[in-house]
Order: sequence, then structure tokens, then C-alpha cells
Amino acid sequence: MLKKDNIPGLLVNGHRFELESLDSDPLLNRISEWDYPIFDLKEQAKDLILSQMCYKIFHEVGLFEAFKIPVHEFLNYCHALESGYREKPYHNRMHAADVLQGVYYLTSQPIPGFTQIPSDATDSPLHKTSESSCSNASLAHRPSFAAEASYGVLGANYPALELMALYAAAAMHDYDHPGRTNAFLVATYAPQAVLYNDRSVLENHHAAAAWNLFLSRPEFNFLCHLDTAEFKRFRFLVIELILATDLKRHFEIVAEFNAKANEDEAPGIDWMSEADRLLAMNMCIKLADINGPCKRHDIHVQWTHRIAEEFYEQGDEEADLGLQVSPYMDRKNPQLAKLQESFITHLVAPLCNAYGEGGLLPGIWEDEPETSDENDSSDETDTIVSRRDSEDVTSSGENTSKADAKPGPRPLAQRKVRCLQTIHLRDNYDYWVEVYKRELEAEEKEKAKREAEEQKEMKDAEEKKDGDEAEMETIEEEAIQRLSPTVSTGNC
Ligand SMILES: [Zn+2]
Repeated sequence: MLKKDNIPGLLVNGHRFELESLDSDPLLNRISEWDYPIFDLKEQAKDLILSQMCYKIFHEVGLFEAFKIPVHEFLNYCHALESGYREKPYHNRMHAADVLQGVYYLTSQPIPGFTQIPSDATDSPLHKTSESSCSNASLAHRPSFAAEASYGVLGANYPALELMALYAAAAMHDYDHPGRTNAFLVATYAPQAVLYNDRSVLENHHAAAAWNLFLSRPEFNFLCHLDTAEFKRFRFLVIELILATDLKRHFEIVAEFNAKANEDEAPGIDWMSEADRLLAMNMCIKLADINGPCKRHDIHVQWTHRIAEEFYEQGDEEADLGLQVSPYMDRKNPQLAKLQESFITHLVAPLCNAYGEGGLLPGIWEDEPETSDENDSSDETDTIVSRRDSEDVTSSGENTSKADAKPGPRPLAQRKVRCLQTIHLRDNYDYWVEVYKRELEAEEKEKAKREAEEQKEMKDAEEKKDGDEAEMETIEEEAIQRLSPTVSTGNC
């Protein structure tokens, strides 16, 4: 147990951390909500947002006890880490806190039909949580969980060390982000691009710099009770997870996951395999990292404006350097809706769909089993609706067996899962498509108006030209007439 009674507060680089008040803080106590009020927490916690989120989640999951983590060293490091995030519109310490809360949510909240491995096969602190009864006070904010037998939590299938690596990686994953893209760093021969040979430049830098910070001072060593093998494995996992956030590897990782979990002949995720668990964790941190479009609209819009501003700042610098301004980065030509529509279609939806189809998205079973959705139109937005085949309900015995359901076409009888992520994603997608459509219409109208004006100008000019020519002829005639008598007089 933490020895908090005799510590009124921990002084960390001039900031006092009142652990008791952090434990009971109403905003921090809402970390199990997907649409977490991160902007409110930013208002409240200010520059301590990441260290407070780290403390809260490590405490909630029981990692301080599991690894005998000294709280002072932990906060020393977390505060140094958050101080190393720059004041950028998007890639700042609030984004790191948001991604950390995202991975906590995804690993700790009930997933319909998720099968947990037996508790004797893992030391997961979240496994213990999931086996508790609903009388457990800490589960009060998860009412749907204890009420249903056919739910499980992802974190239950992970050893404590791997969970800790996932949370630490989320906190560290954008450390010292310069607010510029990999492409920009490569194009400008930035020192880090040269150092990392143009490969995953930012991600290599985040991981290396955050580890460098950790190793720089003994008072940051909150992992002092890990043995050498544990420390090495922890470090390996943190690096792997941070490197997985490079969007250049997006399709490769999603394809690997689909081949493992979703395709017809897919073997399924083997939770006893380290490689399979890492693959699922890679998907988890990636989803948390680009979670914006999966959040409630008002939250999503705020993040959108932040990333757009960061892009425009890069565009400004590109223009200053005489480079071509990158797509979507020209503040004189904002294409927000097009950017978001494309971002959702090509990146977020395929990731979120794969994760959901793989049976890893928290949510609740819809009340009524779906009798038939085969007649549904399969338009584009339909692809971001989560469906869970009945084969996933094997643990509750409610529906058909796995053997009945696979391989072959999807069975008619399906049970739908309600997931906030897919609902918000669809809403946000529809919103941007509508905005984009209106923008295009406005553009078309503007173009038609311009063309009409140009035509009118041309017509006016032609008429004027005809008029001028006629006038000129008259003037010439008059001049000849005026000159003629003089000439004839002179000749006489
Ligand atoms: Zn990030």
C-alpha cells in the first residue's frame, strides 16, 4: 500500500502533489468515460495534466503496488516528461494525457463477448478487477460490467508489466514534438532526420529522448524494483509501442491485425503469444492516438482546429523557406472538411473497424438480436458501423457456436454491439461530408458567378469595341471631310 498518511503532499520541482485530493478529484474520477472532458482537465490541472493523469491511472490499475513504484520518483519523472512537451496547438502534453486516458479506457472497460484468459494464467491487475463483484466501490462507475456475464476487459489478458509499458508509452509517445511532420523534417534535412536516416524520425526521437530523460537522473528511476529482465522487456515494449504510432506503418499494422484476427482463415489472437499481445497493443495505442474522430462531436471539433492550426504553422514555415506548401497546410486555403473526411476514410475508419471486428472495442450488447441486416445498403458510411457476429458470444452460450458461424457467409442472426467510438465516428464523418458538400456547392456557385461575370465583361467589351470602331470611323470620315476643302483650296 502507498504510505500516504504521513505525506501531506509531494513536492516535485516546486509543485505540490496532494495525493489524497488527486484520488478524490471529480474530474480525474471520470477516466472510465470514453468522451472524457480533457479540455476541462486542462483548465483545472494546467501544466500538470499529464503527471496527474499518469498518477491517477497507475493508482487506479494498481501498478504502484504491483511494482513497488516509489511515488516521488514516479512524479519526478512524469513532471519532467510533461515539461518536455512543447507548447504546440496539438502535439502537447494534453494530447499525451488524452492518449493515455484512451489506452486506459480501451484496456479497462467491458467489451461484449470478450473472453478473458483464466486468472491463474496472468498476473494482470485488471483481471482481479474484472472478477470483483459489483459491490466493489471502485466498480461503481462501471455499472454495465458486473451486470453482464458476457463481458471481459482487454487488460485482463495482459501481464502487469505489459500494461505498464502501454501506459508509459502513451505518456511518452510524442515527447518533445516540434509540431512539424516527418515529411517536413526529412525535406529540410533536420538534424533528427539525418540522425535517424529519414525513418520514423519523430517516433524515434520521442522514444529516444523520453528514455534519455528517464536515464538522466537517479531521482527519475521509478522502476528501481524491476529486475534486469523485466526492465529490458519493459523498455523493449515501450519503444515498440511508440514506433507503432508512425502513421507510415498504419496499413502494415492494420493488415497484420486483420490477417491475425479478422480474415476468413485468420487464426485469431492467441493471448498466450507475446507477439499477438503486442500486435493488439499496437492497435490499441494507435486507436487512442488518432481517437479524435471517434469522440463526441464537440470534443472532436476542438482537436480538429488544433491540428489544423499546427498544420498552418508548418505551412507558414514552408512558405518562408520557399518550399511548396503541403496539402491542407495553407491557411489561405483551409480544407478542413476534406482533410477530416479523408483522414476518417483512409485511416481512422479502417483501424476502428478492424479493432471492432476483432472484438476489442468496449461497448454494450444491443438489447435485441439483429434478425437480418443482409438487405442493408452497403454504402460507405455503413462500413464504420460495428457488428459482432454471434460466434463471439460463446462464453455466455446465448447464440450459435463458433463452428456454426465460421467459415462461410455471415449468419443472419447477429447481435449488434453498441460502441461509442463507431457511433461518433459515423456522426463526425457524416458531418464533414455534409460540410464538404456545402463547400463544393458554394465553390461551384462562386465559379458559375465568376464565369457569368467574365462573360458579361467580355460581351460589354465587345459591344464597346464595336461602338469604338463605329465612333472611330465617324471621326475619320469627319476628319477627311474637314481636310478635303483645305487641300482642294491649296491646290488651286
Ligand atoms: Zn500522438
